Amino acid sequence: MNLKPLTGHAEPRRRIAQAVASGKLPQVILVAGPEGVGKQRLALWTAQLLLCEAPGAEPCGTCRSCRLVLGLAHADLHWVVPIPRPKASEQDRQVEEAAESLAEALEERRKAPLYTPPDGMSSHGMATARLIARRAMLTPVEGRRKVFILGEAERLVVQESSQEAANALLKLFEEPPAETYFLLTAADPGRLLPTIRSRAVPLRVGWLSDGDVRAFLAAELDPAPTQPALDRIVARAGGSIGAALTESDASQSARSAAASWLEAVMAGPGPAAERALPQAPWAARGEFTDLLDAVAEALGDAARGAVGAGAIRPVSAALARQDPARLLDALARVTEAREAAQGNVNPQLLLAVLAGDLAEVL
Ligand SMILES: [Zn+2]
Repeated sequence: MNLKPLTGHAEPRRRIAQAVASGKLPQVILVAGPEGVGKQRLALWTAQLLLCEAPGAEPCGTCRSCRLVLGLAHADLHWVVPIPRPKASEQDRQVEEAAESLAEALEERRKAPLYTPPDGMSSHGMATARLIARRAMLTPVEGRRKVFILGEAERLVVQESSQEAANALLKLFEEPPAETYFLLTAADPGRLLPTIRSRAVPLRVGWLSDGDVRAFLAAELDPAPTQPALDRIVARAGGSIGAALTESDASQSARSAAASWLEAVMAGPGPAAERALPQAPWAARGEFTDLLDAVAEALGDAARGAVGAGAIRPVSAALARQDPARLLDALARVTEAREAAQGNVNPQLLLAVLAGDLAEVL
């Protein structure tokens, strides 16, 4: 799969394109800005522009270089992401291991271009630093330039024992080889090693507009969310596509929790219903209201289906058998519970009462 299109950041894009066109793009850039706004995607866009055979205000998108970058298969684009620490003890073996981990990470991103941040244990260790230093010395494979992207550069770990690897990297940033670019990204530049921060030219990027986040989600989420769900996700995301994707995962899990809860309620009192209650998976009040919203959504869909108005999402067989009047009655009770959930009520208790109410109606 290809990279998802870059969203927003019109002003940084314009400045980068201008600098590339005039041959004045700094060779070491630190892209800094909030989490989930597409800093690494902007760095990839910049790499595409630097490698494009017919660049303008945007990369052309159709030349061989552009297609290779979009497929994450360009030999002169080195996207370096945090990886687990190599297990080998020998230095060369560690570098090989880092290269393998990076190749695997990229393969994952080719399969699933919308990724979540790597786990907290992953970092840019000294094996990665050595790997970058080695690759930076090679001549470009495809064309005349090489681009390195160091995502989440705050995760660069310098160990006392491998000061020479750190120094090699610093030397690279201080005097980059000709036609070699380093694009670092960081949500928290303050955590970056000062020696690195001082060698990079900062490029600030900001939050995305709600309109940009909405357009991206509407185009890229599969299955597409309903309009109310989209509104909610966009409002909570606060200008971050990364946050929106996390929200969307949360609403996905709320939907499946709602489906099993409704199923248990309709199965009537007994072990299934008792099991469903303690399992309700919420850690925060937000998750609880998400569950109620998802229950309301499922009932609303079933009601629309039952009156022939067409459900937005697939309706479970048990709900599809219900009479529309009963579904609307159930929906009204869920709406009441949703209002009560805004106040200071015990979610567990509220859900138990609601289960009893719905069991009578459905
Ligand atoms: Zn191109």
